[in-house]
Amino acid sequence: MQKPKGTYDVFGERGKKELYIRGLMETLMNKYNYEYVDTPIFEASELFHRGVGETTDIVTKETYDFVDRGERNMTLRPEGTAGVVRSFVENKMYARESMPVKVWYFGPMFRYERPQSGRYRQFKQFGVEVFGSEDALVDAEVISIPVNLYKILGLKGIKVNINSLGDKESRENYREALIKHFEPVIDTLCEDCKERFKKNPLRILDCKIDADKEIMKTAPTTIDYLNDESRTHFENVKKYLEALGIDYVVNPRVVRGLDYYTHTVFEVEADIPSFGAQNVLCGGGRYNGLVEQVGGPSTNGVGFALGFERLINALEAENIELPYEKEIDAYVIPMSDNEKAYGFDVLQTLRMSGFNADIDYMSRKIGGNFKQADRLNSKFVIIIGEEETKSNILTIKNNRTKEEYKVSKELVIDFFDDNLEKEEH
Ligand code: ATP
Ligand code: MG
Repeated sequence: MQKPKGTYDVFGERGKKELYIRGLMETLMNKYNYEYVDTPIFEASELFHRGVGETTDIVTKETYDFVDRGERNMTLRPEGTAGVVRSFVENKMYARESMPVKVWYFGPMFRYERPQSGRYRQFKQFGVEVFGSEDALVDAEVISIPVNLYKILGLKGIKVNINSLGDKESRENYREALIKHFEPVIDTLCEDCKERFKKNPLRILDCKIDADKEIMKTAPTTIDYLNDESRTHFENVKKYLEALGIDYVVNPRVVRGLDYYTHTVFEVEADIPSFGAQNVLCGGGRYNGLVEQVGGPSTNGVGFALGFERLINALEAENIELPYEKEIDAYVIPMSDNEKAYGFDVLQTLRMSGFNADIDYMSRKIGGNFKQADRLNSKFVIIIGEEETKSNILTIKNNRTKEEYKVSKELVIDFFDDNLEKEEH
């Protein structure tokens, strides 16, 4: 049996890496005072048609749809925002007094795409959504989250692209200008672009096939069509990013793949030589209007979604070593079956006092056990023979210096407290 195409298994070092990064995300989100949310990985198909939009590729071509045994049309979520917005509305979070509502999520998403490096059919996203504030502070804060996560991880080659689509009025004026621009040459563009021209011309700018054509480069930019209010909002976003010392580039080509964006849109790209084509590490923006579309009261929203696998690829491309635990503190060796229960108790005491510890489950001989201690990178080895169980004086060996200690069972935690501190300095 083999795994489905476009999926991957997590085990070994990869598992440690993933848990380490997820821990950092959790710590970071606590510092930002965001609330953790987790919504189902399948939802009624209609949610994505309404929420993500009828004309986006992820809804028209990439969803995993199924009919359940109750004949309901269901879809494995292709992205996180629609479900979070559904939950926001259904649980009446909009009625809270403590606006804005700031939430974060982490979990698998599903898209039926052609698998390649950095592109999977099941992949994970870390994302946030902030509801209920139109302040540009929120736009800048949301951009700062992935940027700070990359910084904490030590990732250097990143480029932050920002743009503004403006409010409804600005978008409408821009749409007309785009139609004028592309109409005479629409026959020279790809089949998808012809379709986009009819349904949502803005999406043409997001095309990967026609990207290098001259007509794309000369297209009008959204920035030129911002009305005063939209322009002020964008100026504020830039001012707040500067206040945080975040380098950005205003890139008119960033329009984002989804239907629901207004005002700020952004993407963080990997700027690492030889990184490959799938170099967009995360993207997001403001979506005033989405909550209403999903059946809630008119509420502003801003969010981003970050590709977890591409983040790990970027860390690997920069040869960044993550400082996750590669050692354990103690390995317990009972000399025979008679000492197992006693050793098991010592092991539990260590584990419950905050130490990482393991025991011999294979009844190895003493030499084999020392090899196992090395394989597990154990800092200390605790040897328990008949003598030790009788006297309650344990034999503990420093596995690096080979120094040996006799420690009374009652003082074993004190011993580890003192000696591990010494080891670490
Ligand atoms: P792309 O242009 O690469 O297809 P997208 O615009 O479809 O990306 P979003 O919907 O904005 O992507 O998703 C946010 C992030 O999730 C992306 O920037 C990327 O890092 C990641 N991502 C998207 N699709 C995949 C996938 N199939 N496999 C792995 N990561 C993905
Ligand atoms: Mg895509």
